[in-house]
Order: sequence, then C-alpha cells, then structure tokens
Amino acid sequence: MVKPRPLIAGNWKLNKGPAEARAFGDALAARLGGIPGGKVDIVVAPPFVSLPALTARGFFTGAQDVYWEDKGAFTGEVSAAMLRELGVEYCIVGHSERRQFFGETDRTVNLKAASLLAKGIRPVLCVGERAEERKAGIMFNVVQFQLNAGLFDIGIKDPGDIVIAYEPVWAIGTGNVATPQQAEDMHEEIRRFLEKRFGVDTGCRIRILYGGSVNENNIEGLMDMDHINGALIGGVSLDLDKFLSIINLIVKREK
Ligand code: PEP
Repeated sequence: MVKPRPLIAGNWKLNKGPAEARAFGDALAARLGGIPGGKVDIVVAPPFVSLPALTARGFFTGAQDVYWEDKGAFTGEVSAAMLRELGVEYCIVGHSERRQFFGETDRTVNLKAASLLAKGIRPVLCVGERAEERKAGIMFNVVQFQLNAGLFDIGIKDPGDIVIAYEPVWAIGTGNVATPQQAEDMHEEIRRFLEKRFGVDTGCRIRILYGGSVNENNIEGLMDMDHINGALIGGVSLDLDKFLSIINLIVKREK
C-alpha cells in the first residue's frame, strides 16, 4: 500500500501575535533549510492576524477558521477569498474547540469546507468523539455522522484537496494520547468511508491526520499505523525545537 505523503500541521490556537510568529517563521524556515524537500508537508496555522508573517516561507500556512460568504455584513468574519489573497493553502474547519465554544455545527463545517474548496484552499476537516461517546461505544457512529454531514455534496478533484483530522476530544490538550491502535481503528473506519464517498483510488490517498496530545515521544508509534498520514498538533507546535524534532523524525522515516 502506498501511503500518501505525510502532513504535519501545527494549530497555534490563540497564541503568538505577528512579532512572535515572524520570529518563529524565520527560525523554522532557516532550520528547515537542511531538511530534504518533498518528504513531508508542513503547515503552520496561527491566529488570522499572524498569517502574513508566515506566508511564502517554504512551509504552508493554514487558517484556523473561515466564514463561507465571500463578503457582506458579517462583522468579525474572514472569507476564503481573503485567505487566498494572503496565500493561505490550508484551513482547519470543525475543530472541537469551535464546536464547543463557538457554536460550530456540522452544517457550518460543510458550508465552510465548500467555500474553501471553491477558492482552492484545502480544508482540514476535524472530527472526533467525546469521552462519554467513546465510553458508550458509539465513537464510530459519531465520527461517521460528522463526516457525512461535513462532506455533504462536496466533490474534490484530487485526493490532496482535502484532509481529515481525527481528533478525539478527550485527547486534545489532556496528555491522554490515543493508543496507536485506538487511532488506527478509527482511521481505518474513516478510510472506508472516504473510499465509499470518493471512490477507492481517491479515498485511499486522502490524508487522515491524528490529533490529540501528539509529541516527539509518541509520534512514531502513531506513524507506524497504516492509515495515519500525519498529525495535527496543538500545544507542542508552539515549541520550535519539539515541532522540528517531530518533523525530523518523520523525514527520517520517509528516506
Ligand atoms: C488540537 O488542538 O488540534 C490539538 C491536537 O491539541 P494538542 O496537541 O495540544 O492536544
């Protein structure tokens, strides 16, 4: 089985304004200079205001959210066209923090994903069950529902157009990383879903990331799994050395 090229994405959440982001970007670009290209795609997703400090640096940038209308009376929002104008290539949609604190629903996730694709930006669609849903044994149903709704009516031209991030809510920011097997079981379900939804050729090449307390010590066990194609990393992505050591570990495996 040919695995898609790995993707490592850092979700900075509400951290690092423009000055700090620029310094991080300078250091990351300088230290990535020594890493052979093409082995791994790297995405950094800062707050909106820090995006310009990070674009065109040899790694990709991602936004953490988007609004689905192009323009209009929507105070506080940012459109996919505006992100495109900045050179942003990826955008997280449906992160559990947005679902929990900002009223994100599967319907709005779907509208956002469609508007991103229409502007040539790759959605990183986050799905994942809460602790009580896992306890009740309904985690596969929960994730399947989120995928079904989030991808409703969505077509893609290339497997690289879309990325799925499996992020069990109980693992985010808690230090309770899923075991590689727990993650793989879900990734396999997601893979089957994608193959049915987009056809086997495309579905088997869409990248499925794992997210939730990933660090430099647990990344390799996760990446050993057949259907784990990278990681969405929160806390640890704020630390340049740790973020780079994760990238380096993956580059070494791809040789
Ligand atoms: C996230 O917020 O997407 C995430 C995975 O966070 P952390 O790595 O800190 O658990």
